[in-house]
Amino acid sequence: MNTLVLATSNPGKLQEMQEYFTGIDWQLKLKPQHLDIEETGVTFLENASLKASQVAMFLGEYAIADDSGLSVRALGGAPGIYSARYAPTDALCIERLLKELQDSVDRSAEFVCALAVSDPNGKIILTSQGTCEGIILKKPLGVLGFGYDPIFYLPQYQQTFAQMDPDLKSRVSHRGKAFGDLLPALIKLEQK
Ligand code: IMP
Repeated sequence: MNTLVLATSNPGKLQEMQEYFTGIDWQLKLKPQHLDIEETGVTFLENASLKASQVAMFLGEYAIADDSGLSVRALGGAPGIYSARYAPTDALCIERLLKELQDSVDRSAEFVCALAVSDPNGKIILTSQGTCEGIILKKPLGVLGFGYDPIFYLPQYQQTFAQMDPDLKSRVSHRGKAFGDLLPALIKLEQK
């Protein structure tokens, strides 16, 4: 079984990724804590590629990285790649976003998730990107999930991500779609 290093030292992310990898013959492990990669890219895919490639090169192993965030159309795509750093806490990120969006009529937004896999030499060999479209509510709704989930409303399900059953969120989310596209290629790679 091949090992795939996850370019994060966050155990929560490892657990989440492990769910997508159920039944797949790659063993996931976290990158060492001291190995810090600066996210200097200007797109989700650039940042995911940077993280995967540098971790792979440093360890001489296959590595996978993700980068995700929320792009709000009326804010010119903000917070985008800065979603995690928009404010010090999730609640403050939501507060800032609602303040900046004010009473804007256009409340359309999309979550984006980019994934990149690097070979042990640092060469990016697989990428994928998934998106999920929704509407930014004026007030948070629901208690599940994390980040911007309570203000991200999906009209076709008539609920926010923070109200949605987690299994359903995994299937319809930007992350679910990005993994759905990437996994067949990873399985092929494993079989080579
Ligand atoms: P990361 O790149 O996966 O660490 O995510 C960056 C940031 O985007 C997170 O800290 C969240 O603020 C936001 N984000 C990404 N995916 C989601 C999601 O599924 N729900 C809510 N917020 C998300």
